[in-house]
Amino acid sequence: MTTAIVGATLIDGTGADPLHGAGVVIDDAGRIVDVGANVAPPRDAVVRDAGGRTLMPGMIDCHVHLYGRVGPLQERLLTPPSLALFYGARNALRTLDAGITTVRDAGGSPAGFKMAIERGLIPGPRMRIAIAMLSQTGGHGDSTMPSGAVTGVRAGPEWPEHVVDGPDEVRRAVRALLRAGADFIKLASTGGVLSPSDEPAHTAFTPEEIRVMVYEARAAGKTCMAHAQGADGIRNAVEAGVESIEHGIYLDDALIEEMKRRRNFLVPTLVAPMWVLRHAERSPGSVLPQAVRKTKDVMEAHRANFARAAAAGVRIAMGTDSGVGHHGSNAEELEQMVAAGLTPMQAIVASTKTASECLHLQHEIGTLERGKLADLLIVDGDPLADIAVLRDPARLALIMQAGRAHKDALA
Ligand SMILES: [Zn+2]
Repeated sequence: MTTAIVGATLIDGTGADPLHGAGVVIDDAGRIVDVGANVAPPRDAVVRDAGGRTLMPGMIDCHVHLYGRVGPLQERLLTPPSLALFYGARNALRTLDAGITTVRDAGGSPAGFKMAIERGLIPGPRMRIAIAMLSQTGGHGDSTMPSGAVTGVRAGPEWPEHVVDGPDEVRRAVRALLRAGADFIKLASTGGVLSPSDEPAHTAFTPEEIRVMVYEARAAGKTCMAHAQGADGIRNAVEAGVESIEHGIYLDDALIEEMKRRRNFLVPTLVAPMWVLRHAERSPGSVLPQAVRKTKDVMEAHRANFARAAAAGVRIAMGTDSGVGHHGSNAEELEQMVAAGLTPMQAIVASTKTASECLHLQHEIGTLERGKLADLLIVDGDPLADIAVLRDPARLALIMQAGRAHKDALA
């Protein structure tokens, strides 16, 4: 069955000016066969009228943890992994309900979870997964508490060991993650905010260890993403060939130039520190006291350096670190990007076209162009006039993945 949507204001994700009175034609394989101002639906097409609403690509979040949830420590200790799976399924649904049709899971979700969504067993965004974040002993991904208790242990072939030291252990860990189905290799090249025993500015892993990860990932046709906050750790990651820098808090001018030259992606996750403070306020005990202090230390630099990197022309891909924040509130990140100086159109491109490039899915999704999959939204409102309309699920009249409607409230 061919479906056509007409009478829309088209924001195609490329950054081109919006087109009024536009539409899209989608074939029965869920691919776009025509899009633009003068679409001519075939005679047998089901034609839907968007009534002047905005037609745009489904949004892509390049950094989520669908298995993740910040909550009281006791609650986390009392959650068996099989229960966490069902929370993960709920998080996936909330994310898709928010108009996020594709995500990159930066650690936590195993391959079977992605497969369940691909097979239609549970609704959720299309996934690319890292499975786990490689971390050195005592680094950002080492959840050994000072008491000796370890939170969130996962094991077995689906969750290979991720706290590793030295080139040989690192090599084995990357290969085990690839065997378990990782699409990206995630590493922590610096400390972080939520971890118990390091600082965001601390450097983690040696350049040699990171080069091993990049080599092994590339050997399998994959790339690396680095949780990287301090300048030295960002530099180590970039120079070793890591493609995507997550958070990037202490970026300096030299790093910004280097990232531009290498065409690295910056995934800023501006909402993540905001959520750490919200949790601390709303639910005392849900984040470690040092995490609150560290968040306050980094917030100003985070925003300022993101704004400098974006203004300088570093490729920005939208990511939220949801799991730290509530799943389903992802589009708040676009508001924060605009507050930091991006135009609404730039925030949309970061959440569509550039995000698809960051996920290596630019040939399938990210823009509304002929031949791509019909991952799209119809939004009641003009996000170019008010980016906040994207955060209101009630305004999402249609949420479509590969031509299939997840939500259809188009009258
Ligand atoms: Zn994260």
